[in-house]
Amino acid sequence: MDAEKEGKRRSFECSSCQFSSPYDYFGKRPGFLKSIVLLEEAYVMKDPFTPENRHLTLGGHCSECNKPVCVGKDCSIFYTRRFCIDCVMENLEEFPKEVQQELNKKDKG
Ligand SMILES: [Zn+2]
Ligand SMILES: [Zn+2]
Repeated sequence: MDAEKEGKRRSFECSSCQFSSPYDYFGKRPGFLKSIVLLEEAYVMKDPFTPENRHLTLGGHCSECNKPVCVGKDCSIFYTRRFCIDCVMENLEEFPKEVQQELNKKDKG
């Protein structure tokens, strides 16, 4: 785990695609979003382009291996919990058919 460096804005970095972005909040209840509770502990950024209560979910941690992964389809899926693609592939038979098909499509694509 990286120690937070002083004077540097916190930033989220996907361990899969190297996407990185500063974030405003990590957790389930961003203080700047009233009455919104997220489904997972996620990295959240205030959306600078839309007014009030809009946000962007950047990513979260894989519930299996705990790697930080972005919400991009190539990096993770959310199926009751968040899983990185590596963990999905390792446990593919435990996911429903629609998830398997989605991932198989990608391999051929
Ligand atoms: Zn990613
Ligand atoms: Zn994982």
